[in-house]
Amino acid sequence: MDLKNYIDSIEDWPQEGINFKDISPILANPEAYSESISGMCNLINHKPEMIAGIDARGFIFASAIAERLNIGMLLLRKGGKLPPPKIDIQYELEYGLDQLEIKEAQTKGTEIILIDDILATGGTMSAACDLCIKAGYTVKQALVFIDLVNVHEEITLSNGIKVESLIQLD
Ligand code: AMP
Repeated sequence: MDLKNYIDSIEDWPQEGINFKDISPILANPEAYSESISGMCNLINHKPEMIAGIDARGFIFASAIAERLNIGMLLLRKGGKLPPPKIDIQYELEYGLDQLEIKEAQTKGTEIILIDDILATGGTMSAACDLCIKAGYTVKQALVFIDLVNVHEEITLSNGIKVESLIQLD
């Protein structure tokens, strides 16, 4: 099954110049969703201690992967969503600032894999990696469902790892 057939592209939404990728058809089709989760699981080199999902569509993939691997999941939430105590980071968007928050690692060095739906500029994934390190986790891999390869140059996270993807789109 070609998963690309289950991803819609909407030109100039939510603003001019953005080619929005809608994963709703993937989620509407149990076979496509299951194959997406299997594909992402196959990119994992070593089973980590936890899966860390990025708010909000990252949760859709992260929770299913965590369940498949029979390990726990960690929420990287957007600003103001997580009750204290928590650790946060601010990062720049194309316009303005955004914030991610996380709970501190209960055991220092807990090994995690970061998961999001889409890599565009890489700003979100870079901030997520920095935040997890600040909160005491060891980031072993960073995976996305879709890499928008033309939006960014090569991205290396602050701990030297590269973001891996199941699907690459223009
Ligand atoms: P970035 O920080 O630029 O890499 O953007 C990644 C985040 O923004 C992901 O969590 C995506 O959900 C969302 N995103 C960015 N670009 C798109 C796009 N073209 N279509 C859908 N979601 C996007």
